[in-house]
Amino acid sequence: MDVLKVLNIEQKYQADNGETTAIKDISFSVEKGEFISIVGPSGCGKSTLLSIISGLLKPTGGEVYVNGMLVNGVSSHIGYMLQKDNLLDWRTIYKNVLFGLEIRKIKTPENVARAEELLKTYGLYEFRNNYPSQLSGGMRQRTALIRTLAINPDILLLDEAFSALDYQTRLNVTDDVYRILKQEKVTTVMVTHDIPESISMSDKIIILTQRPAEIKEIVEIDFELP
Ligand code: ADP
Ligand code: ADP
Repeated sequence: MDVLKVLNIEQKYQADNGETTAIKDISFSVEKGEFISIVGPSGCGKSTLLSIISGLLKPTGGEVYVNGMLVNGVSSHIGYMLQKDNLLDWRTIYKNVLFGLEIRKIKTPENVARAEELLKTYGLYEFRNNYPSQLSGGMRQRTALIRTLAINPDILLLDEAFSALDYQTRLNVTDDVYRILKQEKVTTVMVTHDIPESISMSDKIIILTQRPAEIKEIVEIDFELP
């Protein structure tokens, strides 16, 4: 079954010089455990599309379904990872990871146990009493990912999540994130302007046209990179 179904999404913005269309007529679906990338030139409407999928922005046309349910407002079942890791510097790694559960009011014993399990599986448990500033960029990014996975999201949205990292760190982090997401079978939608990154991480790439964003092509990636 499709975890995500995006149906005829259209987004218009009111500007001083009238109305502009950011997104024109976008439809696609994503299966459980699939990793898809949305690529396109800067300003074409990628972040707008992610905001719509997350429920933060109500589209001017069309619908989004998550697990068959119409998205209407922000769901606690969507995880978001941004360019900045947004870790709280005054909280330990452990407390940062639990914070994702706290703000969603889902800090149940099962979820805390899941968070601790993730910290252990991915080598962060021994650093749990450290503060973010004591970790490398890669480890911080991994912490941010674990914080998001601890909420057990139906869909993970990545918005240019790696573009602030330097080249070598970026290669390591994307590899790390890819392995974790495949192991945890997380359904992921990533937007990026980095085509090599999308090729190395995705099962499918949706290429958007220059604004207004429409689907130009959908490319299936059916090879394994070494
Ligand atoms: P991308 O993420 O691909 O760089 P965005 O989704 O941020 O693109 O923006 C798409 C287009 O919509 C841009 O032309 C931008 O100026 C416009 N836009 C985005 N948000 C708003 C807004 N809140 N009001 C008006 N125009 C907006
Ligand atoms: P708060 O007061 O912010 O709710 P606590 O420090 O009382 O948080 O801890 C809440 C729970 O998390 C307790 O069960 C505690 O044992 C556990 N806990 C706190 N820090 C750690 C840690 N570093 N490693 C493992 N468990 C921890």
